[in-house]
Amino acid sequence: MKFNTKTIHGGQDNVDPAYGSVMPPIYQTSTYSQTTPGDHSGFQYSRTGNPTRAALERSLASIESGNFGLAFASGLAAVDAIIKLLKQGDEVISTSDLYGGTYRLFTKIFEDFGIKFHFIGMENADKVAEFVNSNTKLIWVETPTNPMLNIIDIAAISKIAKANDVLLAVDNTFATPYLQQPLSLGADIVMHSATKYLGGHSDVVMGALIVNDKDLIERLHYIQNASGAICGPQDSFLVLRGIKTLHLRVQRHCENGKAIAKFLQNHPKVDKVYWPGFESHPNHEVAKRQMSDFGGMMSFTTVEDSYEGAVKVVEKMKIFTLAESLGGVESLAGHPASMTHASIPKEEREKTGLKDSLIRLSVGIEDIEDLVADLTQALS
Ligand SMILES: *Cc1c(COP(=O)(O)O)cnc(C)c1O
Repeated sequence: MKFNTKTIHGGQDNVDPAYGSVMPPIYQTSTYSQTTPGDHSGFQYSRTGNPTRAALERSLASIESGNFGLAFASGLAAVDAIIKLLKQGDEVISTSDLYGGTYRLFTKIFEDFGIKFHFIGMENADKVAEFVNSNTKLIWVETPTNPMLNIIDIAAISKIAKANDVLLAVDNTFATPYLQQPLSLGADIVMHSATKYLGGHSDVVMGALIVNDKDLIERLHYIQNASGAICGPQDSFLVLRGIKTLHLRVQRHCENGKAIAKFLQNHPKVDKVYWPGFESHPNHEVAKRQMSDFGGMMSFTTVEDSYEGAVKVVEKMKIFTLAESLGGVESLAGHPASMTHASIPKEEREKTGLKDSLIRLSVGIEDIEDLVADLTQALS
């Protein structure tokens, strides 16, 4: 099956043996009857498994070209489950430019449990090898990175991970499986905030993991069931519905994204535009190789270069809604320094180039003329 067909049919054979409904029923139940103790239809208790969630988990596996999927209560709950594979004394090498909540979970929760995190720039993959030692158990990659839109070479990092017997996890939230397939590039675990492009309509919070290895999915499912951060059947239904139009939405996000990136680049009040589709982007060649297009996420700074100036621009936008999050059908704008990345200290932010004047856009799928007009008036 090719990708567009997978978004609609992947893992969805016979989702309703009772009535043949095309969409899986929302099994709003906590438990399942047994005829005699231990004799059940495959489900016992909805923390452990639920048929609606299972239908979504099969779809997730299919679109990421993986064997197994797991759905969680949020993206961070999915990250949390991965780190729980580790124990005290283990070390993680992570991209330095990463989602603020992931950074917070690593440093404020898991460092206290004796897990050590090294945050490094991974644009040059060789640098990762310098940080590997006998305690290293996981490499954490986010690409494109948030909010600087750096690109990391997944295949190159995967070689280092495999040579050292270290797990490689890739946060594929920004790219989506439509643009980038980390498992095919050698990753062991793909993670998603399904809240973003997979759900696609800004109406649900959810996370996902996809893997190929049977032993690894068993360990992750054990953690999911033991820790309990599962998503409900209603939310599972919504994300499954979202995935069915993922390919169409991301195509339009890419078209609009390209037009907005070019518009910003030529605007006299805009200083730098961070978008991997530009030939001048430092890792454009890697982006071209590992992604099928460049997406609708971008960041920019204004020539005025001040915190207040950036705040004024985002406040003036009308169609671009000032809000956290990304990946929905509607265009959103954010000011990372005061919003999504406020949990990263200013010194750490500036090391990765995240200035106080940076504005991040999640370009939606509205008419491009309206989006350009909105940015024109906001920048004026
Ligand atoms: C939003 C986001 C997360 C966290 O996901 P939640 O669903 O908000 O818990 C992780 N990584 C990236 C890149 C994100 O954008």
